[in-house]
Amino acid sequence: MTEAKPKVDMEKLVSLCRRRGFIFPSSEIYGGLSSCWDYGPLGVELKRNIKQAWWRAVVQQRDDMVGIDASILMHPQVWQASGHVEGFSDPLVDCKNCHKRWRSDELEGDKCPECGGELTEPRLFNLMFKTFVGPVEDEASVVYLRPETAQGMFVNFENVLNTTRKRLPFGIAQIGKSFRNEVTTGNFIFRCREFEQMEIEFFVKPGTDKQWFDYWVEERLNWYVSLGIKKENLKLRQHDKEELAHYARDCYDIDYLYPMGWAEMEGIANRGDFDLVQHAKSSGKNLNYYDEESKEHIVPYIIEPSAGVDRTALAVLCDAYDEDVADGEARVLLHLHPSIAPIKVAVLPLSRKETLTPLAKEVYAELRQQWMISYDEAQSIGRRYRRQDEIGTPFCVTVDFESLEDKQVTIRERDSLRQIRVPIEGLKATLQAKLDGEDLFVLPDGGKIWKGG
Ligand code: ATP
Repeated sequence: MTEAKPKVDMEKLVSLCRRRGFIFPSSEIYGGLSSCWDYGPLGVELKRNIKQAWWRAVVQQRDDMVGIDASILMHPQVWQASGHVEGFSDPLVDCKNCHKRWRSDELEGDKCPECGGELTEPRLFNLMFKTFVGPVEDEASVVYLRPETAQGMFVNFENVLNTTRKRLPFGIAQIGKSFRNEVTTGNFIFRCREFEQMEIEFFVKPGTDKQWFDYWVEERLNWYVSLGIKKENLKLRQHDKEELAHYARDCYDIDYLYPMGWAEMEGIANRGDFDLVQHAKSSGKNLNYYDEESKEHIVPYIIEPSAGVDRTALAVLCDAYDEDVADGEARVLLHLHPSIAPIKVAVLPLSRKETLTPLAKEVYAELRQQWMISYDEAQSIGRRYRRQDEIGTPFCVTVDFESLEDKQVTIRERDSLRQIRVPIEGLKATLQAKLDGEDLFVLPDGGKIWKGG
C-alpha cells in the first residue's frame, strides 16, 4: 500500500482561505499578530457547523451527557491544584549565535537548526497567559486565561451532579476558548495562541475506565469520518510511557495528515482520579460520589476526549480540497460534507435580466428561512458555479426563463455536476433530502426525480 500524501500544500490553502473569506490574519491592517487568526464570513459558519455537529453528537443525541459553559477566568488555585502553575511549560533554548529561540524537545541534535550555533541550557517557560483582576496589579490579583476548558468541568462536578441527578457513568461537555503562549508557532491555525476546544469529561466507576476509554477512542474517530474526513488521513497513536502526561494512565492521539505531516487533532486520555482528588485536596470540598450499588463513596475516574475546533477546521478544509476539470475548465473545489459547508445552497438567476429577478429573489427568500444561502447574479453562470465550488457549496439552484413559465428550477450538484429540474413547490424538500445524503439524481431509466414527484 502506498503511504497517504497530503493533497494540498499549506500555502495554497492559506491563500484560498484568505481570498474567499474563511480566515484572515488577526489585526491584519497593523501587520497581524503572530499565531492569532480571525474567522471571516465563511470561516465563522464552518466553525459554527463543526461545533454544532459535535454538540449534537455528544450532548443532544445522548442521555448520559450534559453541557456547561464555564468562565475563562477562574480562581487561581484551580491552576495550582491542576499542576499548570508548576508544570505547564515548554523547555526553551536560545541560539548563542543568531539568538533564535527553540523548544528543545522538538530539536534533533544539540545545535541551532538555523545556523548551527551553540544553544543555551534549556529553561522552562510557562505557557499560561497571566493578567490581573481588579485595579491593582499585584501578586494577589493574578489570574490566568485558561489554557484548557477541562478545569471548568472538574470544578463543577458537584454542581452538575446535584442539579441534574445524573448517575455514573455520565459526562460533561464544553466548547470554549483557550489560550496558550505557544513558543513554536506557524502552520496556520494548527497552533494558535488563542483557540477553541471541544472537551468532554466522562466520569466512570473505577474498574470500568479501560472499557470506556476504548469506547471513546472509537466513538471520536468515527465522528471525524462522519464529518467526511477520509479514513486514510486519520491515524490513532498511543502515547508510550515516557510521553504520558503526569495525570494520564493511557492516552491516544487522533492524528490527521496535515500538509506538514501527521499531527494531533484530538487527544483522548484516561485521567484516573487525578483531577477530582487534586481539587478535593486543594478546595477542602468532598468531591466523592455515593455509589448506591456498593453503598460506598468513590472517586470517579475520568475519560477525557479533548478536541480542537481550529485543528478540525483545518483538517476538513485540507481533506475537502480538490482540483479538477469541469465543462472543459479547471476548477478548485472543496468537497465539504453538507453538514459543515458554510453555504448550503446558492441561488443563481441565469442572467441579470430584470424579468428573472423577482422569482429568483422569491426562491432565495424562501430557502434562507431554513439554511445559509447565497444569492449571486454577477458574471457568467459558469464563473458563478466555480465561485460556489471553491467554497464548498453543495448545491446551486438556477432560475432561468423557462422557470417563469413552468415554475421549475435546476439543481446542480457540486461534486458530480449532475443537474435535475424540480418544481419550485418541492424544492425545499428535495434540497433537504439531498443535504441529508439521499441520492435523488439517479433513476434506473435515466429520468429525473424530485422528492414527492
Ligand atoms: P500539542 O502537543 O500539539 O501542543 P497538546 O497535546 O498540548 O498539543 P492538548 O493539551 O491535548 O494539546 O489539547 C487538546 C486539543 O486542543 C489538541 O488536540 C488540539 O486540537 C487543541 N489545541 C491544543 N493546543 C492548541 C493550539 N495551540 N492551537 C490550536 N489548537 C490547540
